Amino acid sequence: MSFMQCTSCAKKWQNQEDFLADPEVSLLGLQVCFENLLEGLIMFNHSCKTTFSIEVSRFGNLYQGPVYETRATGTEQCPGYCLNERELKPCPTTCSCGFAREILQEIKNFPKGQRG
Ligand SMILES: [Zn+2]
Repeated sequence: MSFMQCTSCAKKWQNQEDFLADPEVSLLGLQVCFENLLEGLIMFNHSCKTTFSIEVSRFGNLYQGPVYETRATGTEQCPGYCLNERELKPCPTTCSCGFAREILQEIKNFPKGQRG
């Protein structure tokens, strides 16, 4: 079974690394699921101009740092990044949502392979 298949052009990626290293795949944003953060959706663009999303849980291996228990959303410390799907910045607070944004950084900084 492959890691992911493009919903439009049917291109397949064999594994996570294959997917993240593909220069034709770009990170678009994050739809935070506040009820279950691992069910949040990371949105990607494929070069065929399709957008699709993959659950945060499938990238959990990319972040091994601390995960905080309390959510800071709505407090003075919260910059509100999670409320903006296109915001890719890491969160500066100790918030339970933070790990998902750290995963975004790993995806963003993943070394892209050579085309062809
Ligand atoms: Zn595609």
